[in-house]
Amino acid sequence: MQDKTKAVHSGYDKDSQATMAVPIYQTTAYEFRDAKHAANLFELKELGNIYTRLMNPTTDVFEKRFASLENGAAAIATSSGMAAIFNTIANVAEAGDNIICASKLYGGTVTLTGHTIKRFGIEARYFDVHKPQELEELIDEKTKLILFESITNPSIDVPDFDAIIMIADKHGILTAVDNTVATPIHCKPLDLGCDIVMHSTSKYTTGQGLAIGGIVVERQNLVEKIKGNSRYYHFNEPDASYHGLVYTDVPLPIFSLRMRLALLRDLGATPSPFNSWLFIQGLEHLPLRMKQHSTSALEIANFLEKHPRVKKVNYPGLQSNVNYPYAQKYIHGGCSGLLSFEVGSFKEAVKIVDKTALFSLVVNIGDSKSIITHPASTTHQQLTAKELDAAGVPSGLIRLSVGLEDSIDLIADLTQALEA
Ligand code: PLP
Repeated sequence: MQDKTKAVHSGYDKDSQATMAVPIYQTTAYEFRDAKHAANLFELKELGNIYTRLMNPTTDVFEKRFASLENGAAAIATSSGMAAIFNTIANVAEAGDNIICASKLYGGTVTLTGHTIKRFGIEARYFDVHKPQELEELIDEKTKLILFESITNPSIDVPDFDAIIMIADKHGILTAVDNTVATPIHCKPLDLGCDIVMHSTSKYTTGQGLAIGGIVVERQNLVEKIKGNSRYYHFNEPDASYHGLVYTDVPLPIFSLRMRLALLRDLGATPSPFNSWLFIQGLEHLPLRMKQHSTSALEIANFLEKHPRVKKVNYPGLQSNVNYPYAQKYIHGGCSGLLSFEVGSFKEAVKIVDKTALFSLVVNIGDSKSIITHPASTTHQQLTAKELDAAGVPSGLIRLSVGLEDSIDLIADLTQALEA
């Protein structure tokens, strides 16, 4: 089935009322038929609803639809993109372990990996996604995850997927890719050989800046990489917190199963059914919107590249961009709506940001309304100068999230804002 069809149909068998729209199951809990039924659900002898912190029928449609768009086996929706990333790390790593991350990442992921998980005893090491030999040198027996973004925010790089996956597979290490910017419409990391895909669904999935959410999708047959793999002993040994369940013995997608049974249960980063419903609405037109976001972004990137005040434009759809060959190989049908460009200084960047009228000054991306951000004074403000450099965020960098307005009007707005 093609993406446009999956986006409107996958995961929903019309309920007893035959509603065309997916119903919102706004409930905390579900009545068991009897004590036996309740016990069976808890023992996984039967699958069904227990409590909305663990599962919900509206969220279930969203998870199934997203998994289908990513060509994955199963998905777990979370309360935010950051929760999706943290739960992914927590599903594989514990105190004493390390994960290896791309040096250029979304600012929240930089602080999560560089600071917060450190306090849980998990070390993050960083590598350049175009220098896979750096990655191999960082791997040891305690490495549990290789984490990167398919199109980085805000530096807009596309990684060397094949080289990274080859090294990860050689060492039996799971790869997790944040596919928020590319979306499953432009990139399918699981088809490229990655193991896990993570998203902030607060962005292109909702498409109109309506709700915070996240999702984690696992690939088909992931059990093959985990079963008997000593790095992932906690999937292979009895889970004392779940009556001795051995995840690799269960004939279900096990990464998601453990995330649901152990992490949603204990950490509770679950989306509200209403937000899941909003994400379902967004998914229905995601393929159409991404096409338009990408077309307009390329037009704007071409305009900026010729502008005398602009030092550099980062957009992998530009032939002049170092990421162009990687984008040609791994990103399809457009390069999404996110681009960044560099002007002379922090001061100049702030002036331009203040002068735009159609672009709203907002720390978000993936909205139908165009957005302008100055990362050094906002999303990346907490980073040290060294961290800013490593994240590919010079102080004169401006990020644009190109919306669904007419690109003629957007270019006119940028033209007046760039006037000295
Ligand atoms: N990943 C990327 C690439 C992002 O851009 C963001 C937020 O901007 C996140 C993750 C975090 O998502 P959320 O704000 O939904 O927690």
